[in-house]
Amino acid sequence: MPLLDVQHVKKIYQTRFRTNQVEALKDIHFSVEKGEYVAIMGESGSGKTTLLNILAMLDRPTEGKVWLNHTDTSKLKHKQIATYRREKLGFVFQDFNLLDTLSVKDNILLPLVLSKQPIHEMKARLEEVLAKLGITSLKEKMPYELSGGQQQRVAVARALITKPEILLADEPTGALDSKSASTLLDIFEAISQQGQTILMVTHSTTAASRAKRVLFIRDGILYNQIFRGDKTDRQMFAQISDTLTVMANGGGQV
Ligand code: ADP
Ligand code: MG
Repeated sequence: MPLLDVQHVKKIYQTRFRTNQVEALKDIHFSVEKGEYVAIMGESGSGKTTLLNILAMLDRPTEGKVWLNHTDTSKLKHKQIATYRREKLGFVFQDFNLLDTLSVKDNILLPLVLSKQPIHEMKARLEEVLAKLGITSLKEKMPYELSGGQQQRVAVARALITKPEILLADEPTGALDSKSASTLLDIFEAISQQGQTILMVTHSTTAASRAKRVLFIRDGILYNQIFRGDKTDRQMFAQISDTLTVMANGGGQV
């Protein structure tokens, strides 16, 4: 069984007075193998965040199922969900979401504090992720003393410290300048090569062209996917651009 199996997921939002329904996801069906690096693209309103929220177990599908690592996530109870999210999933957001009142070190350690890890284990993992992200010299600083690119690297360190089954990222380069974005993408590629499974929603063709596979969502369905195979970043970039153009022009599946 794949690491992540998304089976015919549908999501209907009811508006407040049930006068209107929004079918945000119509029928999303795909799976991700352990160690894959997958990007998800689609226009604004196509359902990307809805899908990510369901994978993150912040929301439940109206129909369909999500299996993660042999667990049917629809069967988890409220308390199990909190533990499951903390232990199995890592999150990176567009706007970093660091806690302003905690140092870099304490921000990164937070998920481990909540899971009551022994101190020596926490210290060892902290030094490991600091080195991996190239931010060892920043560990005593406060978030407001850091650039956006540095803050995002802290956020990635925080996501990785629990050794998650899957790293979920929603527009991780969206708030970064191009140099910091490129550094972050280098880091994602490096951790992918070390075996980390990554699922990244992005608007950026440059970002998506670094992934091993790109899924395209339109109007709540999977419209197309591109596998990297032997393609270079440039060839991926060109093929993604072409697909986005065809999609924007309302073309059929390519
Ligand atoms: P994306 O992230 O691709 O921009 P979203 O998943 O945010 O798309 O939204 C998909 C569709 O669902 C949109 O039409 C949006 O307006 C609608 N939608 C998203 N969240 C809600 C919600 N909480 N209640 C009602 N409609 C929503
Ligand atoms: Mg979104």
